[in-house]
Amino acid sequence: MKTILKTDITVKDICEGFVYNELEGKGLFGLSGKLTIQPEYQRNYIYASDGGKREIAVIESILKGYPIGLIYFNVVSESGLEVLDGQQRITSLGRFLTDKFAIKDENGMEQYFSGLAKDKQSKILKTTLTIYECKGEESEIKEWFRTINIAGVPLNNQELLNAVYSGPFVTLGKEEFSNSQNANIQKWSAYVSGSANRQEFLECALDWVSKCNIGDYMSSHRNDKNITELKTYFNSVIDWVSNVFTDIESEMKGIEWGRLYEQYHKKAYDPVKVSAEVKKLYGDPYIKNRKGIFEYILGGSVNTKLLEVRIFDEAIKKAVYVTQTTKAEKKGKSNCSHCAIGHDANKSKIWKLDEMDADHVAAWSKGGATSIKNCEMLCKTHNRAKGNR
Ligand SMILES: [Zn+2]
Repeated sequence: MKTILKTDITVKDICEGFVYNELEGKGLFGLSGKLTIQPEYQRNYIYASDGGKREIAVIESILKGYPIGLIYFNVVSESGLEVLDGQQRITSLGRFLTDKFAIKDENGMEQYFSGLAKDKQSKILKTTLTIYECKGEESEIKEWFRTINIAGVPLNNQELLNAVYSGPFVTLGKEEFSNSQNANIQKWSAYVSGSANRQEFLECALDWVSKCNIGDYMSSHRNDKNITELKTYFNSVIDWVSNVFTDIESEMKGIEWGRLYEQYHKKAYDPVKVSAEVKKLYGDPYIKNRKGIFEYILGGSVNTKLLEVRIFDEAIKKAVYVTQTTKAEKKGKSNCSHCAIGHDANKSKIWKLDEMDADHVAAWSKGGATSIKNCEMLCKTHNRAKGNR
């Protein structure tokens, strides 16, 4: 890889012909059209988020004469350049020069570029940047891009994969899943967590269709000119979930719907019954893990482990133990009701508290509450024998 250091390019030069695309959330061109600021393998512009703290900091650094760091260009043709690293900073400059955001002056007043004093405007425009122009094989540059991004502000996993496997497939995938203007994002966000902008919807769609093998899938589809399979699979999962579970609950976000779809989509469910069961379980104060409700229902309402049902606390156990034991001692019988009706030596055995466990008299799954009235202490053997609680 060959690199040339450039120190004569000014902020004015870089921002000549700057275009910001609101729809894609990207700064597109600079250097009078010679420079592509955010090529397809770059992430969207993120410096405007968090109230724009980072883009404001870029402008304040320039006004104070601080360096804003190295910038790397990739020479793509005789006259064409792409920004490899620095696209967020360059987009901040371009957006400021085109009055897309304001900074605060020394009196705390908001100032757009066009309203700044002439000397300040000129200081910004004349500031030179430190730029490396790199020339090399695509693979070499991408490998290096991977390296610098691991060292610097990290790209997340999917952003890196998009860079490594850039091509028509990634471009189409991003058009569908990473465009926050896509009306479907709203619907999808009931089931998918994260932000479209940070590629998390694309990541989810790829994760589902590839059965958690995103890298392999992207590699083998890299040059595809369509994303039909990806789109179809993703929509099948979403349609299935929204048909089985007709009410949207906040805990549905981020569930492994792809896995559940594979496991259960061939089973028939009655959405009316399912809805009633969801409501009942949501109203149950003993369920600690509401996210588990959906898989629990899909699996036929058997695996109560998914729900992490609250167990009796120590105070209840102790109180019940004392009452039970006092009664049992009077009758000369065991304080475990199951032992007491037996015929062996244990029928009059008084167990210690730590030799017993709490049991739901009416099983939780049959509507029994986790309250003192529904608590019975049994010896450990009998408690275990009752099983499936
Ligand atoms: Zn017993």
